Amino acid sequence: MPKIRDDVVRAVLDRARIEDVVGEFVTLRKAGMNMTGICPFHDDKHDGNFIVRPSTISEKNHGNTYRCFVCDKKGGPVQFLMDAERMTFPDAIRWLGKKYCVEVDDVPLNWTPPPPKPAPPPLPRLELPRSWVKRTMELAVPDKILFLYWFSLLPWSDEQLARIRETLWTYCVGGWRDGRVVFWQIDHDGVPRAAKLMKYMPDGHRDKERHPGWIYNQEGCREACDPDNHEIVKPLFGAHLLKRYPDAVVNIVESEKTALVMANFYGQLDRQLWIACGGLKHLHLDSMQPLIDQGRKVWLWPDKDGVQEWQQVADKLGADNVQVYTRFFDTCWREEDGQKADCADIIIRMMTKGDQPREPEPKNDETVSVAGIDCVPVEWNTDEPFLDPIEYIDPRVREWREILRNKFNFNKRHNGTTDNNPDAGNTSDS
Ligand SMILES: [Zn+2]
Repeated sequence: MPKIRDDVVRAVLDRARIEDVVGEFVTLRKAGMNMTGICPFHDDKHDGNFIVRPSTISEKNHGNTYRCFVCDKKGGPVQFLMDAERMTFPDAIRWLGKKYCVEVDDVPLNWTPPPPKPAPPPLPRLELPRSWVKRTMELAVPDKILFLYWFSLLPWSDEQLARIRETLWTYCVGGWRDGRVVFWQIDHDGVPRAAKLMKYMPDGHRDKERHPGWIYNQEGCREACDPDNHEIVKPLFGAHLLKRYPDAVVNIVESEKTALVMANFYGQLDRQLWIACGGLKHLHLDSMQPLIDQGRKVWLWPDKDGVQEWQQVADKLGADNVQVYTRFFDTCWREEDGQKADCADIIIRMMTKGDQPREPEPKNDETVSVAGIDCVPVEWNTDEPFLDPIEYIDPRVREWREILRNKFNFNKRHNGTTDNNPDAGNTSDS
């Protein structure tokens, strides 16, 4: 079989448009600048995992490619034909030649089209009852929800202490009957789509033994919302605040806990909003496109050791308004924070020890800023390290604190609880 001439291959490649090629086999739907569909490479139920970046987008921004965020299949038009239709390279070139009227050679296609697969009917997106949000937030077993206790006992300033309740309510943080904390994921339009259930230890660390659960999988909820027959969407944690604060800079961190610590530390959500992606893999075009399209200023805040990885993601997103923010680490990170530290770890260390951020000699009256906000917007008194929060906080938080204090015999505000009470860790599982 004669080799196809290079100039012919090039002519075909120049003409091939990914949206046409994929569109022959997959039903595509427009989503912002992209198109999405059901991934042909894995047993996909949900439209939205498989993204096509049309040929109208520049190559630098990954135009004329496809990618599945579940099975990670990716490539251009030829790769698609080879992977999805099992064509050889020459056959893929011949197929494209036919489609785009480029004469390839006299050798006929050694490929017969498979019978067309009917596109599955689109599933309705899972929408959870708003009453569930309220119910989890009012759950009357605060003594078990150690995350909330840990959070309320951080060495906040008076001002920060006073807004804990507001922060938790603004972000829709609730509790579950078994002591897990519930992080609601509500979309831009205020529709509750998912809620992550996570178990924390009294020291504020996640219980690594237990994987996060999802509210729609919980007994009693599953039957009520039928997740199997819906498309499950997982908005970023805090996404419902984007519309409420249209002028805020959007700071994206990895964990929900970090977003809450930062939000409560700085307050002023109308200027600086804190959003959690729940893991780098959720930071993809589909979740980020609305922010990119709106042209909002987005800072990505990786952990200390995650800068490179997050930078790669930012490069892939290829949007000028989305950038990795490292200045905080440059100025505030210390050896003792460790390589795994994230910005909340550093903030907590600074609050606990009364440290000033190590800004390298700010020049004259140059203000020290973190993404536009003063690095230490509140002062804490190092002589009197532990303010008693009871005077300042919401009655509910006070109630939690009392219950927990009795239950776990806490008598010191922080330093971790296990120092004072070796049983605390065990009791939490009971
Ligand atoms: Zn896939």
